[in-house]
Amino acid sequence: MPASLPRKDLFSLPDDIVYLDGNSLGALPKGAAEHVETVIRAQWGELLIRAWNQADWISLPKQVGDRIAGLIGAPKGSVATGDTLSIKVYQALDAALKMRPGRKTILSDSGNFPTDLYMAQGLIGTIGKDYEIRTPAPEDVAENITDDVAAVLLTHVDYRTGRLHDMADITRRAQDAGAVMIWDLAHSAGALPLDLAGSNAEFAVGCTYKYLNGGPGAPAFIYARPDIVTDIDPALAGWMGHDAPFAMELGYRPAMSTERLRVGTPPIVQLAILDRALDVWEGVDMADLRAASIALSERFIAEVEARCPDLTLASPRDPQARGSQVSFAFDNGYAAMQALIDRGVIGDFRAPNIMRFGFTPLYLDENDVLRACEVLEEVIGKALWRDEKYQTVSRVT
Ligand SMILES: *Cc1c(COP(=O)(O)O)cnc(C)c1O
Repeated sequence: MPASLPRKDLFSLPDDIVYLDGNSLGALPKGAAEHVETVIRAQWGELLIRAWNQADWISLPKQVGDRIAGLIGAPKGSVATGDTLSIKVYQALDAALKMRPGRKTILSDSGNFPTDLYMAQGLIGTIGKDYEIRTPAPEDVAENITDDVAAVLLTHVDYRTGRLHDMADITRRAQDAGAVMIWDLAHSAGALPLDLAGSNAEFAVGCTYKYLNGGPGAPAFIYARPDIVTDIDPALAGWMGHDAPFAMELGYRPAMSTERLRVGTPPIVQLAILDRALDVWEGVDMADLRAASIALSERFIAEVEARCPDLTLASPRDPQARGSQVSFAFDNGYAAMQALIDRGVIGDFRAPNIMRFGFTPLYLDENDVLRACEVLEEVIGKALWRDEKYQTVSRVT
């Protein structure tokens, strides 16, 4: 592990668990709760409405956007924050389709996270055009970038398998074919080094409650390439995206920056948590993070394959071809994951049969990985998952 990692002391984690689900909900950074207490009691409680100016709440969405930009290889001023990722997918896709009015195909892949595809379906219903959403297998995306494609909408790291798309290559192919490129960075931001500006992609979106540790319901982000910003015609023309929200004009006039992709009042409490959560990245070299992530996931795969022959690797074997998670297929994966969680090793399950483990090198080390493998070996080897109590499926898996 590089000298600067892990930084467990910056997180508030229970002693008796190994947390391998930071790809789904990041851990609580120390200081976040105290900071929010100040925002609530001293700012909201005492300043009331004055806090927008006196505590500078009004600048928070942009300040946080600039900090996220630094983690995804984007320039300051190019990232807007707020809303949820689903909303940001809708906005980016709508903007992209408007930029290619003659084309009728949206290209995604069958590994995309369902909400991205649902939002695309909903958007088509709203704009009432005869669009087709094409979803080939992830490995067949490149050959499906034909000259009828208006927008390529892909999640960079496959949420189920961890498979990584080649951002620079796919973006180049999309643009060569005249399509607009949108990357969903939900499983990439804070997980690996990104060069969004270098890829030349028009749009990127992402959430902040996974590897960025912003807490449940943390605001999403959207990036637009600076040279196209003023061409974007926002679908959700909210007042916070207006050039002068407090001029209270009757007509919409979009901001001349990425701020035009904001919608309504920013979630200040969540932004405050996220702002403090982003402190944990100070001084982290993303190349070090990536090296540590690969070391942990390689060790995990080797141990699990040696100890649990019933599990089949469902992630790419080449570490350069996967993000910061490892998935194993196992037919009784749901029950096995419940048995694992019961013993303090927390991962999650994705239908139909994927046991998913996230590697967050900021707060995980090799001992955690070994402990997880020992518990997994016991659960699988002794078929502890057969216990009746692990068979009931919860609402959130
Ligand atoms: C986690 C995730 C989402 C979640 O969207 P929300 O609107 O934040 O619920 C969307 N897309 C991808 C690819 C995800 O991984």
